Amino acid sequence: MSTYPKAIQSPGPFEKRYTQQNACLGVVQHSAEGSIQGTIGELNKLSRRASWHFSISKKGEVYQHYSTTISCWHAGCFSANTKLIGVEHEGKVGEPLTEEQVIAGIELIRWMQEQLGWGALERGVNLFEHNEVWDWDEDNAGPTACPSGRIPWNRYLEDAMTEEERTLLNWLKDYIVYFVDPHVKQDGTLQKLQQLLDEHVHGLPDYTHEKRS
Ligand SMILES: [Zn+2]
Repeated sequence: MSTYPKAIQSPGPFEKRYTQQNACLGVVQHSAEGSIQGTIGELNKLSRRASWHFSISKKGEVYQHYSTTISCWHAGCFSANTKLIGVEHEGKVGEPLTEEQVIAGIELIRWMQEQLGWGALERGVNLFEHNEVWDWDEDNAGPTACPSGRIPWNRYLEDAMTEEERTLLNWLKDYIVYFVDPHVKQDGTLQKLQQLLDEHVHGLPDYTHEKRS
């Protein structure tokens, strides 16, 4: 049993789970496409074949419906459902997460990271969107756009940085603004900036093979 201390406990129906334990390798972000009341209402309907671990309201309240050790039905296939923890976010397509949702979401993921012994937070390793995992099995519920671009991943990744990585990020931003592209986005992730710098460096003439006199 793993319970998030800051969550409001709002248990979902006992039946909506696999018997297999959840391997808890990462988190899947979802867009609830509705209000928090509607979302919890759907969870509690036995006829609706869906369940997930946490729901985050626009006010930043975190509701926990199942222990993280339980395998719920949110990711679209057995493999993803038995490996990943599902988080729903109140609101719908076109609505960015509220600041309160982002802060609560980051805090929740940090707790999971610590509790479950994840290494560094990384997209595609322990941070996923629903649309990235539904096809882990051939037998699946079909494609989805969820969470429809609502997750500001840069915020999650920057928050999770070490002091050293943050210093490097700021240095890279300064370097790129002065020497590569003055209009570089200030919310670029470390990976994106490194890629940009890489392209710049590779675009320069190669002097390394020149004969020295
Ligand atoms: Zn989803």
